Amino acid sequence: MMKFPPRLTLAQRPTPLQPLDRLSSELGGPRIWVKRDDLTGAVTTGNKVRKLEFILARALDEGCDTLITCGGIQSNHCRATAILGAQLGMKVHLILRGERGESVPEGNLFLDYLAGAEVSCYPLREYRQLDQLFAHWQRHYQSQGRKPCSIPVGGSDHTGVWGYIACAEELVNDFQVAGISPAAIVHATGSGGTQAGLTAAMQLSGLPRVIGMAVCDDEAYFTAKFREDLAAWREFYLDIPQVAAFSPDKITCEVNDSYIGPGYAIATDEVFATIRQAASLEGIVLDPVYSGKAFHGMLEEIRKGNFAAASDIVFVHTGGVFGLMAQRDRAGIR
Ligand SMILES: *Cc1c(COP(=O)(O)O)cnc(C)c1O
Repeated sequence: MMKFPPRLTLAQRPTPLQPLDRLSSELGGPRIWVKRDDLTGAVTTGNKVRKLEFILARALDEGCDTLITCGGIQSNHCRATAILGAQLGMKVHLILRGERGESVPEGNLFLDYLAGAEVSCYPLREYRQLDQLFAHWQRHYQSQGRKPCSIPVGGSDHTGVWGYIACAEELVNDFQVAGISPAAIVHATGSGGTQAGLTAAMQLSGLPRVIGMAVCDDEAYFTAKFREDLAAWREFYLDIPQVAAFSPDKITCEVNDSYIGPGYAIATDEVFATIRQAASLEGIVLDPVYSGKAFHGMLEEIRKGNFAAASDIVFVHTGGVFGLMAQRDRAGIR
């Protein structure tokens, strides 16, 4: 067992590992299993709460009372931060990329407001100066006598990495209980923290091959990002023996960037068809921005015969249902 830094208990865990037998037999490939990280909480659903368990523990240890973070207008990370901030009695300020729009906000943005977060929306041109926006709001809260903590996009920093290092210990146990040795673990990669954690766990816990399905940037970007985040993580937690023994240079990063489609948060009709198929055949609800895109990519790889020799494959369902609600007009339901 690995020694962890301070951690709050905010996620419902361990999450279940479940087989999708009807879908697997329809495809005729390996048995597909789902790690149900969409069940980490009703409104804290998804992967971000696992990272925030460590990030917010550190923020509280440092005496912070205000959280500032950023993301897209339908950011799952921002919604999770807004909800958890309210649970902990902390003020939350969100720096969002995009337009709020005239109508009542939808999906994640609706929950941001419901949880009482302060929301500032910026067009892309202004959002690009993210460091300046963070500095501006930092000064704003400091001048009010508050102690703000800035959390980078997706909670993907040297502390957030712990979320999926810890999840990997759950997975190792899940595989033992199910009696399987999966050929690969597949999940959506967006800001990189989930895959950085799971990639580190290949070395730390003997996790099998991890494949991130990119939803925005390309393979070269992510490989550099994992190395950078894991080097910073190692530096910061050097007093933990397993961390000190870890070599960021020896990690193997596998990112598949062929299923990004038209762009970030834009899914093809095929992805929406896969979302409908998973929902109707298995009762699993995926989203068009992350989990549905990644799941669709995994099914395509299986159809191509790229997992022909595998008996089991595991998909980490990283959540996103509120993002689907915000795009329900595109889902082919009339
Ligand atoms: C953020 C997010 C991801 C991607 O995780 P990263 O750690 O940012 O790479 C995947 N799925 C959902 C639903 C997310 O919200």
